[in-house]
Amino acid sequence: MVEMKYVPTICPYCGTGCGLNLVVVDEKVVGVEPLKRHPVNEGKLCPKGVFAHEFIHREDRLTKPLIKETNGEFREAEWDEALDLVASKLGEIKANNPDDIGFLACARSPNENIYITQKFARKVIGTHNVDHCARICHGPTVAGLARTFGSGAMTNDFISIESADVIFIIGSNNVEAHPLFGRRVMRAKKNGAKIIVADPRYTPTAKLADMYIEFRSGRDVPLINAMMKIIIDNDLQDDEFIKNRTKNYQRLKETVAKYDLDYVAELAETDPKKIEEAALMYAKADKAAIVYSLGITEHRHGADNVMANANLAMLTGNIGKVGSGVNPLRGQNNVQGACDMGALPTDYPGYQKVVSGQATKVVEENWTCTLDGCAPGLTVVEMIHAAADGNLKAMYITGEDPVLSDPDTNHVIEAMENLEFLVVQDIFMSETARYADVVFPAAGWGEQEGTFTNGERRVQLVRKAVNPPGEAKVDWEIMKEIAVRMGAESEQFTYKNAEEIFDEMRKITPQYRGMDRKRLERPEALHWPCPDESHPGQGLMHIDSFAHPDGLGVFEPADYIGPSELPDEEYPLVLTTTRTLFHYHASMTRRCKTLDKELPTGYVEINDKDAKKLGIINREKVKVRSRRGEIEIPARVTPDIMEGEVNIPMHFFECAANFLTTSRELDPKSKMAELKVCAVDVEKM
Ligand code: SF4
Repeated sequence: MVEMKYVPTICPYCGTGCGLNLVVVDEKVVGVEPLKRHPVNEGKLCPKGVFAHEFIHREDRLTKPLIKETNGEFREAEWDEALDLVASKLGEIKANNPDDIGFLACARSPNENIYITQKFARKVIGTHNVDHCARICHGPTVAGLARTFGSGAMTNDFISIESADVIFIIGSNNVEAHPLFGRRVMRAKKNGAKIIVADPRYTPTAKLADMYIEFRSGRDVPLINAMMKIIIDNDLQDDEFIKNRTKNYQRLKETVAKYDLDYVAELAETDPKKIEEAALMYAKADKAAIVYSLGITEHRHGADNVMANANLAMLTGNIGKVGSGVNPLRGQNNVQGACDMGALPTDYPGYQKVVSGQATKVVEENWTCTLDGCAPGLTVVEMIHAAADGNLKAMYITGEDPVLSDPDTNHVIEAMENLEFLVVQDIFMSETARYADVVFPAAGWGEQEGTFTNGERRVQLVRKAVNPPGEAKVDWEIMKEIAVRMGAESEQFTYKNAEEIFDEMRKITPQYRGMDRKRLERPEALHWPCPDESHPGQGLMHIDSFAHPDGLGVFEPADYIGPSELPDEEYPLVLTTTRTLFHYHASMTRRCKTLDKELPTGYVEINDKDAKKLGIINREKVKVRSRRGEIEIPARVTPDIMEGEVNIPMHFFECAANFLTTSRELDPKSKMAELKVCAVDVEKM
C-alpha cells in the first residue's frame, strides 16, 4: 500500500521564508505544495519554491565520508576513520595556535547547526574565526543598522509594505529575487502606493515603478544625500521626530548640504529632476518605506549606503509605524538566523560582543569554559586572504561554497590549495569540496528538524520528512562527534535532538529567550525580539524607542567614497552581478531539472548601444576580462541595462562572475568586498 504524508516546512531558498508542505510518498519527497494559510506566502510559491524538492533525491548526493589520498583522489571512508582524522588534525593545529583555524557556518542550514558551529569554534577550538556568507551579502546591513537604529535587522514585517503610500526601492529586484515579497509590493501598488525604483538596470521590479531612476552603480550615497538635501531645503523633515527620537542631526545637515543636485546628477549620470521628484514624493508621504537588497550592500562602502537609507527614514519620521521603515531583503533562507546565532567573528549569539566581559561571562557560564582573552576573529574574506598568504592553516566549511560565491575566484582557489587542512561538510560535491582533505556527507533540507529565521525576523520550524541518503548525518551531529573526540566535556555536547540545542541557545540569546517549540508550532510562529515566554514577539520595531541604550536613533552621515575600481581605457565597462528568477545560488537550483531547463547557463547583459559599438550580436559568445580573470559567456543584448554597464548572474560556475570581481578593498565598517562594481572589458570572440 502506498504511504503518503504532508510535512509542513519552510522553503530552502530566499529570506522570504515561505511555508510549504513536502509531499512524501513511500519515503520519497515527490512534490511541494504551498501552505494555504501561511502568513508569509498565503498559498503561493515562486518557481524556485515549487520545484524545490527536485534536488533532494539526486543521485549525486554525498552519502559517505570521503578522504583525499596523496594522489589527489578521494576514497570513501568509514565515519570513525574520517572523524578521527579530522579531530586529530584540528587538535594538532589548535595546539600550535587556535587562530590558525577558521570556520564558515551555513546560512541555508537551521539555526541549531549554526549555533553548534560557532560553539565548536569558540569552545572546542578557542577561536572567534567564525563567519558566514552574510559578510558578502548583508554584513553592511548588520553594521549600518546597528549604528543607526541599535539593531541590524529589518525594521518592519513583510505585510507592513502593503500599507505604504510610497515605496522607495533601491538596489533590489525583488520581483525576481524575492518574488513573494515582490507580490506584496504589487499589492501595495494596487492599494494606491507610488513606487520609486532606483537601479542601473530596468529590472522587472523597475517595470512596476511609477518612477524609475537609472543611475550608475556605486553612486548610492550621493543619490540619497541629494534627496535628503532637497527634503531639508524644502523644510519637509519631521522636526518632532528628529527632536524627540534622534541625535546627531546637525552633523547630517552639514554633510548632506554638500550634495548639490547638479553635482550628484553628473556623478551618478542620472536625471536631476527625477532625484528631486523622488525626494519630494518620499518626504510628503504619510507612510514611506525603503526596500533594498544587495545592490546597496555589496560595495566597499556598503555600510555607508545602509546608513544613508537609515538617515533618510529618520529624517522623515518613517520608522516605528506600519507602512514605513528600512526593509533589507535577506538573500538566503536563514541568513538572518546565522547572524542571530553568532556566526560572526565579533559577536556571540544575540549580537553580544565578544569584547564585552559581561557577554563573555554569560557564555562561559552556559558553556562551562573559559573564553576570555580571545580577540575578535577573521571575517570570510580575511580568512581567504590569510589562507592565501599562509597565515591560516585550516578551514572547516559547512554548506558554503566560497570557490563559487566569493569574490575573485582564482584567489579563493589559491587560498583553498594553500591550506594545510580543509574540511567541507555539504550535500553535494561543491566547487569548494573538490579542494578538501575530508568531505563529510551532510543531511539537507527536508532531512532534519530545526528552525529558520526569515528576513522579517520570523523564527519558523523546519521539519524532517525523509531520512538523509546513505550515511549522511546532520551537521550538529557530525560536530558533536568531533567535539567529543577532541575532549570537550561530554555534558556539553550530549544533545539528543535539535530542540535541546534550541533550548540552550535561547538561554543566552536575549532576542529568542521567550520562544519554545510549542509557541513556534503556530502557523504565524514568532518574530524576535521575544524576550520572555509571555511576550507575543514583535513584527514592527522601534515603535517608541530605538534599540540603543538611550533609546535614540543616531544619524550617521556618510560621505561619498567611490568604487575601488573605476572603468578605464583597458577595462571600460562596469560589471555588476545579480540573481535570477529561476536560480538561487547554484548547487541546489541547478540540480532541479525544471529550473535548469528554464535557465541552463549564464549570460552577460550588455546595453544595445555598447553591443553595437563592439559589433556584438545577441546570444553570441563573448570574452569578458577583468584584472583578475576572464570568462567566455553568451551575450544578452538589451536596452534594459544602463550604457557602460554589464551584468552577469552569479549562479553558473562555467562562466562565473566571480572570476572577474575583486576582494582586495573591503568596507572598513563591515568588511564587505566590492562585489557589485568592478571594471571589465567585453571582447567579441
Ligand atoms: Fe518564497 Fe523565496 Fe522560496 Fe520563492 S524562493 S518560494 S519567494 S522563500
